[in-house]
Amino acid sequence: MAHPKHPPSPGPYGWIHQSLETLHRANWYRQVQPIEGKGGATIRIAGQPCLNFASNDYLGLAGDPRLAAAAATAASAYGTGSTGSRLLSGQRPIHRELEQAIAQLKGTEDAIVFSSGYLANLGTLAALVDHRDLIVADQYNHSSLQMGARLSGATVAVYDHNDLDQLQRRLAEQRPQYRRCLVVTDSVFSMDGDLCPLPEILALADQWDAMVMVDEAHGTGVLGASGGGAVEYLGCRQRPMVQVGTLSKSLGSLGGYVTGSAELIDFLRNRTATWIYTTGLSPSDAAAARTAIAIIHQEPQRLAQLTQNSAYLRQRLDQLEVNRLPSESPIICLQVKDAATVLALGQHLKQRGLFAAAVRPPTVPTSRLRMTVMATHTREDIDQLVAGIQDCFRG
Ligand SMILES: *Cc1c(COP(=O)(O)O)cnc(C)c1O
Repeated sequence: MAHPKHPPSPGPYGWIHQSLETLHRANWYRQVQPIEGKGGATIRIAGQPCLNFASNDYLGLAGDPRLAAAAATAASAYGTGSTGSRLLSGQRPIHRELEQAIAQLKGTEDAIVFSSGYLANLGTLAALVDHRDLIVADQYNHSSLQMGARLSGATVAVYDHNDLDQLQRRLAEQRPQYRRCLVVTDSVFSMDGDLCPLPEILALADQWDAMVMVDEAHGTGVLGASGGGAVEYLGCRQRPMVQVGTLSKSLGSLGGYVTGSAELIDFLRNRTATWIYTTGLSPSDAAAARTAIAIIHQEPQRLAQLTQNSAYLRQRLDQLEVNRLPSESPIICLQVKDAATVLALGQHLKQRGLFAAAVRPPTVPTSRLRMTVMATHTREDIDQLVAGIQDCFRG
């Protein structure tokens, strides 16, 4: 009998232990940290109060009593689970109400909601293109877009982050060999905070007969005069495209969506495996998100405050000697030398009651402190963060 060529193995699962050790050695190992109570601008971690600069709850709606009440009412009316896939027994009136509210917020004909943004992206990419097609994708796209591109079976051509020349070259070189083509990008890059040059991307896509899919996870509710996202902010509302996003960030709930033409949404309802073969979004999550959209319309001052707070943090950081990455959003990052340094920085800030994310490879190419601003932060909150950072950089 042939013997394995590899050294004696510690059993078929032994590699898991070795893999964990490698993660520890590289400072890539991660752990969860429980937050006590509700999320919000101020939270408690291990009993200690902390200012929260690590939340995606940009408008401060996840802890809003009106969302909690809507979720409770929906659970009483429709049950806690939707009990089936949307096409079978999982459809409730609240699902269509939410989808119509999303379409209205985004200025599109229709929308479809998924159980998460990740699932929306996986399923939509796999429904729109296959092995006969080409995806042209920004290098820094979110994990869900990258995995969805692989799942679709399409050929994937990656261009350097926001590099329009390279995008143009990929299209010129490869587009003619394929049936359909889809350009895929985050609108607000989740780990950097900068925006994609959407008008230019749409123009190139037009020129090469390509569709465009834009991920508004960090744009919706955050950018644009009415919270319609980066698409609204960049003046591209009237252009045909596939917009995806999440209910889990500024909308304070859980779930994802795709929005666009009525035909696109009709097609997805018939062709998207991550929507057809999974249980419908829970009525409570749907009702919370629906209420969040109503609040965005009724209380535009939240978005205005968020915009002001973000500008204030950027301006204060620019007075320090730190390397701030370009940002036009509430995601604001400081570049840091390496993983060990950013972990130490995160720890120091935490000891001072300041919670910001130390983000390291492989999530991002370079280590950084990632801060997110909320509408519910006060000026004093932001001043405290800046003072903490200043102290740490002084050593
Ligand atoms: C968070 C995020 C998602 C996933 O959304 P979930 O609803 O949390 O699954 C997708 N794309 C981007 C850019 C994100 O930041």
